[in-house]
Amino acid sequence: MNRSSNDNCLLCQGEEATQTNSHIVPKFMCKGILGNQGPRKAFIINIDIPEKKPTVCQDSPKENYILCPSCEDYFQVLETYISEHLHKRVLNEKYKDDFYYLKNSADISFAECLNTNSLVANLFFYPFIGDVVLLLNSLLENFILQKKNN
Ligand SMILES: [Zn+2]
Repeated sequence: MNRSSNDNCLLCQGEEATQTNSHIVPKFMCKGILGNQGPRKAFIINIDIPEKKPTVCQDSPKENYILCPSCEDYFQVLETYISEHLHKRVLNEKYKDDFYYLKNSADISFAECLNTNSLVANLFFYPFIGDVVLLLNSLLENFILQKKNN
């Protein structure tokens, strides 16, 4: 994504997107991926040169100039709420009454949140899904899907 600090914030569209190092995936969500103990570690595979040795990274993907500082602060408030009220509680026995645990027909377990503010959850997850789509678009821009031959 080729953006600069002169571009408008992707959320409010009213301020300049001067914020740098915005996490695409919230930090608390990456702890399980990068590890909670010892040095955090993941690998970046260059899709243009897949045979090249992967680069080691210690943080989740970041982008520059997608948000203004105010919107970055706004997301931080939402992220903190979701981290504290959902992420840290969903598998904690102490908060089991805050969730209703289910399995779908494919035997996949999930939890229904009973005490999480749904407005805050929607404000957090919908833009987050948009961020992931932006990230995937930038990662996949060099891929061309071929039509399947029968
Ligand atoms: Zn903004």
